[in-house]
Amino acid sequence: MRVLDRRAFLTASTALAATLAAPAVLGQAKPKLVVIGGGAGGGTIARYVAKDSGGAVDVTLVEPNPVYHTCFFSNLYVGGFFDYDALGHGYDAMQAAGVALAQDFAEAVDRDAKTVRLRSGAVLPYDRLAVAPGIDFKWDSVPGYGPDAVERMPHGWKGGEQVRLLKAQVEAMRQGGLFVMVAPPNPYRCPPGPYERISMVAHLLKQTNPTAKIVVLDPKENFSKQALFMEGWERHYPGMIEWLPASITEGVKRVDPASMLIETGFENYTADVCTVVPAQKAGAIAEAAGLTDESGFCPIDPATMASRIDPNIHVVGDACIAGDMPKSAFSANSQAKSAAMAIRAALTGARAFPARYANTCWSLIATEDGVKVGARYEPTPEKIASVDNFISQTGEDAALRRNTYEESLGWYAGITADIFG
Ligand code: FAD
Repeated sequence: MRVLDRRAFLTASTALAATLAAPAVLGQAKPKLVVIGGGAGGGTIARYVAKDSGGAVDVTLVEPNPVYHTCFFSNLYVGGFFDYDALGHGYDAMQAAGVALAQDFAEAVDRDAKTVRLRSGAVLPYDRLAVAPGIDFKWDSVPGYGPDAVERMPHGWKGGEQVRLLKAQVEAMRQGGLFVMVAPPNPYRCPPGPYERISMVAHLLKQTNPTAKIVVLDPKENFSKQALFMEGWERHYPGMIEWLPASITEGVKRVDPASMLIETGFENYTADVCTVVPAQKAGAIAEAAGLTDESGFCPIDPATMASRIDPNIHVVGDACIAGDMPKSAFSANSQAKSAAMAIRAALTGARAFPARYANTCWSLIATEDGVKVGARYEPTPEKIASVDNFISQTGEDAALRRNTYEESLGWYAGITADIFG
């Protein structure tokens, strides 16, 4: 097991300085890849470069959490279909594959010196850097909401304890109470995610609190897999869920976490449980490194996932602008494999093949009622473009829906093994 401590990093920095002072040695040193973020995107890059380069590249993964809890399938945990512990994945197998883990937080990137400064003070030199920090929130997108409000009104949008808290609040809700979701504007992580979450909250309430009501306050006029969700809500949870777009509510004007009040231009709601999913941007380190544009996300070269701002840095996953690809773990994993190939080509001269991307997003509406949407993608000079796509149909029979659900279980087992080893 290789966990680098502060001393080891400082030694590494000193060694790099010595190497730079003596160019003759440079050719003999192993090239260094630093990866920021050990989630779906960063974990995949770290593992694939370590595995496929057979030790020819020094790979260091910077991730503060010893265990990563997936957002994907967190809705199934809310609905009672998946154990909380089964959402957690550690880094032991990745380290066994040759990845050095820096359990730390990246605070700054010096793109000229090609170094990453960690919260501990350690400085990591890199030849290539991969940035995959996921998302951060635009807190001011919902007036009255902010980091201090997340205990009262959990967002539950970064996995882990927030999701646990939200589920506990739903379970403890008074009989006949009101659950409100303030849904996010585009672009955000997992387009069908809010609506799967609503389905799973409804599934839980149907058993424990059948007279409860759910209101979704949406800044959007339509959403992913809308016809499928609407059909499913009508079939499984009739009369329980009200979805209100901004054209009806004039949007959420303010929330007051202390009184659980949600004000819209149309009506005010006092919720028993409220989840607020704010507007999103790339994880803060991407902005600090100067890799974002005015959208708050990172422009990339569609063929290699290299930053359009700094070609020595690859950005994958939710933090990047991925053209037609949605922000999903499937997408992040797919992008990471192209990035890993481009990084190995740059650092070791390994052969690179044309990038191909894919995504499927499964959602569970009720017991064994699974639906999906997906596509294949190819890079064009402008963007990652969809080349074909598919979506479940309304009116499908129960056997097909069960198959779709079972397919999603297989996907979860497969992708988590692919990321974490
Ligand atoms: P993440 O997986 O979030 O990983 C980012 C990592 O970076 C984190 O571990 C974080 O700790 C770390 N990090 C951040 N900043 C720093 C820093 N400065 N230094 C070091 N480390 C840092 N996707 C699907 O494909 N299928 C689904 O069914 C699905 N369901 C979802 C349901 C919900 C409710 C939600 C919220 C999301 C869902 N997703 C799903 C989306 C999926 O979780 C994300 O798109 C995916 O995790 C993005 O991967 P990423 O690597 O970009 O970010």
